Amino acid sequence: MDKVFAPLPPVPDHPRLEEEILQWWEDEQVFNRLREQNRGNPKWSFVDGPVTANKEMGVHTAWGRTLKDVFQRYKAARGFDQRYQNGWDCQGLWIEVGVERQLGLNSKREIEEYGLEKFAGKCRDVVVRYAGDLTRASKRLGQWMDWGNDYFTFSDTNIEYIWRFLKIVEERGWLYLGHRSTEWCPRCGTSLSQHELTQAGVYQERADPSLYVRFPLLDREHEFLVVWTTTPWTLPANVAAAVAPDAQYGRRENGEWVAVARYPDETFEEVLRGEQLVGWRYRGPFDHLPAAAGIEHRVVEWDEVSLDEGTGIVHIAPGAGQEDFDLGRREELPVLTPVDEAGRFYDDYGWLHGTSTGDAADQIVGDLRERGLLVEIGLYEHRYPHCWRCDTPLIWRVADDWFIRVDEIRQPLLDANATVEWIPPQYGKRMDDWFRNMSDWNISRRRFYGLPLPFYPCSCGRLNVIGSRAELEERAVEGIEQLQELHRPWIDRVLIRCEACSEPIERVAEVGDVWLDAGIVPFSTLGWQSPAWIEGGYATGASRGLSGADLPDHAYWEQWFPADWVSEMREQIRLWFYSLMFMSVALTGEPPYRQVLTYEKLLDAEGREMHGSWGNLIEAEEAFERMGADVMRWLYCEQPPTQNIRFGFGPAEEVKRRLLTLWNSVKFLVDYGNIAGFRPHLEDLAGGPADVELQPLDRWIVARTAQLVADATKAYDGFRTVDVIRSFEAFVDDLSNWYIRRSRRRFWDGDEVALRTLWHAVVQGVRVISPVMPFLSDHLWRNLAVDAEPSVFLAGWPEERERDDELLREIAEVRRVVELGRQARAQSRLKLRQPLRRLVVEGAQLSDEHLAEVRDELRVKEVELGSVEATELRVKPNLPVLGPKLGKELGALRAALEAGQFDELEGGRFRVGERELEPDEVLVERTGKEGWAVASADGVTVALDTELDPELELEALVLDLIHVINAMRKEQGLELTDRIRIRLPASQRELLRQEDWIKQETLAVEIEVDGPIAEPQIAKA
Ligand SMILES: [Zn+2]
Ligand SMILES: [Zn+2]
Repeated sequence: MDKVFAPLPPVPDHPRLEEEILQWWEDEQVFNRLREQNRGNPKWSFVDGPVTANKEMGVHTAWGRTLKDVFQRYKAARGFDQRYQNGWDCQGLWIEVGVERQLGLNSKREIEEYGLEKFAGKCRDVVVRYAGDLTRASKRLGQWMDWGNDYFTFSDTNIEYIWRFLKIVEERGWLYLGHRSTEWCPRCGTSLSQHELTQAGVYQERADPSLYVRFPLLDREHEFLVVWTTTPWTLPANVAAAVAPDAQYGRRENGEWVAVARYPDETFEEVLRGEQLVGWRYRGPFDHLPAAAGIEHRVVEWDEVSLDEGTGIVHIAPGAGQEDFDLGRREELPVLTPVDEAGRFYDDYGWLHGTSTGDAADQIVGDLRERGLLVEIGLYEHRYPHCWRCDTPLIWRVADDWFIRVDEIRQPLLDANATVEWIPPQYGKRMDDWFRNMSDWNISRRRFYGLPLPFYPCSCGRLNVIGSRAELEERAVEGIEQLQELHRPWIDRVLIRCEACSEPIERVAEVGDVWLDAGIVPFSTLGWQSPAWIEGGYATGASRGLSGADLPDHAYWEQWFPADWVSEMREQIRLWFYSLMFMSVALTGEPPYRQVLTYEKLLDAEGREMHGSWGNLIEAEEAFERMGADVMRWLYCEQPPTQNIRFGFGPAEEVKRRLLTLWNSVKFLVDYGNIAGFRPHLEDLAGGPADVELQPLDRWIVARTAQLVADATKAYDGFRTVDVIRSFEAFVDDLSNWYIRRSRRRFWDGDEVALRTLWHAVVQGVRVISPVMPFLSDHLWRNLAVDAEPSVFLAGWPEERERDDELLREIAEVRRVVELGRQARAQSRLKLRQPLRRLVVEGAQLSDEHLAEVRDELRVKEVELGSVEATELRVKPNLPVLGPKLGKELGALRAALEAGQFDELEGGRFRVGERELEPDEVLVERTGKEGWAVASADGVTVALDTELDPELELEALVLDLIHVINAMRKEQGLELTDRIRIRLPASQRELLRQEDWIKQETLAVEIEVDGPIAEPQIAKA
């Protein structure tokens, strides 16, 4: 007889079956068929956030890619027409830093010496290489995207769209060149913007010197101000000392002035209020160096002076600190900028010239000590910002940067965000907080391979901003013929005519913030204001030859904008989600997305960050090989998005183990279906067999399947993968541990109705989980769904159906009674195979119709609904539920329960004082009368009669024997249908009193008793 289903091995080999399915998808063009099937249907617009193409895929990137794929697959199953364009972030410092490492360059000067043209080529090479690697890994993960038509943010088209945005921003008067103190990376030689500082890993613990330094007062002999600083390199830039006007300052015997509040135990010779010190002049610590020579140092007042640390007198260097800079503006203090772009002292700092800020610390301390100005030195541990790209500690530096003013757009951003549905919802508030508090957007970086800012300032005072390549070509007076792409160095060689005075002028040297590159994507890739559809028209400039992406026309943009859904890590609230919203609201007044799914960070299995240098980093390739993509995807999907995920091979093994319940259920269907020559009826798929009479258990699993479909659909619609996994696992448990267990005998007998019902439940389950585990699902679908669509992904989504909720409630209760019965058994220490006389059940009226099943499951001769007489009732608080709810009140409640001060109410509830406790809020322990084992939960109590008699004892021995024989059958590799002969040792002769029963349960045709053997033996008949 032909087997309908291919036999399954005892455990699945995930990586191998995944590779087979990948090949099969490719051969059968399944993804293209799916897109074709949905073309022209209602749209669901997803916009991909670009990933930087500068390294191989790590398992953290695979998390986001999984979530994107899960929901795109789900929406495709629901019939939506979608865009699947993948994106790459291709320029900016991430890329540059990687190339610098590769070439062994370590400063901007070295890059310039290497040559910008060659450097740009190397940057592009990196993108090409890693876009290839990441594409391969994404496909292996199962991500279905329109590979080959990706967008690359370094395309001229993308850059031109940003130019247009910047021109609009300039026309509105939002663009300005700011002279500001900004956080600066001396290695990268550029300022950073506020949102870059909010990224994970920027603030790190660090020990810096803690210095107390004397500033000699000019008009009060032998008197000094004492200041405290943790950045010695800023002292040569000192111009003032700040005091709190209302605080008390005291002079020590040795002439040192400090805040009294900082030294409450000291006695002072003279005490003055801070405002009385204002205007005092002092000699600066490095007045002998040319830079500071002409500076008049004085005491100023400042409300922000802290009396919690230091001396209460603050050293002010406006050229080396942001607050200092702001205070300096108010007080009209001179600004000394001590270090250059690379963080090295300028030549007017004498012996410090060329020294880096880090190296200068020791020399400055030594010099102060020699000159008697050092009071004390120690170490100070604090959280200090580091460059997010190269990990160098940041400094403050005054520089000219280009900013976009945010005041006018702040409220429109908040209004737009109010229309967005954030999942989980609390993240929307974080976005609001950011919009409320963000300062002007610093968009310029002093680097090489990035968006060239199209700013052409003229000495006549006019700032010329170019909005497109066409405009550039029209106004160019020199260099346009060599402009191969819109990048440095080529763009720098183009001079244009000033629109005011017609003089030839140059572009500024700066490039743009990478978040401009990513934020413009919903405009540049969808063809906003594009007059015509241009085939291959997106792949311009550096992305030529890398992508076949078209530049659509404006009508297309109208159809696909805004995105229905975007999804990235929580960190992107201040990065991509921010720049998307900013640019969209600026250009259209509309939000660029309707729903956002965001999630936290990926850690290793022990809860540590993953780092290459710590040896705990897992590359995606290794995970594909060792756990399989489906298992990874399962791990990501069962993770609540508000918590960091702990990812590792240990958790993966646990998932594999849990997945075996599903596998074994399918294998059961395959094995017994094949034995029975079963062929599925495709029309059973939607609602189970309709043309035959179902048994109650069949009706139940059909209803249970409908419930799974309803629950999972709701969870997918709400973007809650955790709930998808939870409902699926509960279903598989019901399927395996109730439906199949309870129906075994029918399957042994080849019962067609049971097989058809099981087939329906299993295949619907596979469909429901297919977005999460596409490989395993298609592997099983192809085997089971005979005569159906070849791939589960072409089969649409299971329909929601009416279901018998009452039956579902009844069986849920029966399963609870059985669970309690098992607990009672465990308490009594009787083994599971020992039959017992009687079970009394209280508080489970719904199980009335199903007492026979309870009897079977618990191996008791009779089950009755009645009241359980318990001699003692103990109630304890259920801590995980009540703890968070009650907080400090918990102690009192626990004491009251312990003292027996409670009343038992209907339905398993209890009253303690004024408070009523629900069944799930308490743990109830009942001690039965002598000879009874009792268990209780959620208002249901069961009591098990534990008394044994010779008949019960014999039955236990028979059951043990059946178990042993069946284990031997498996060990000896017998087929499920093979008949056997049994030989028993003489000591087991009395078991023959149940000979028929043994034969039936073990498929034995004969049992003989053979004196000399010690253990039972079997042989194939
Ligand atoms: Zn850096
Ligand atoms: Zn001009």
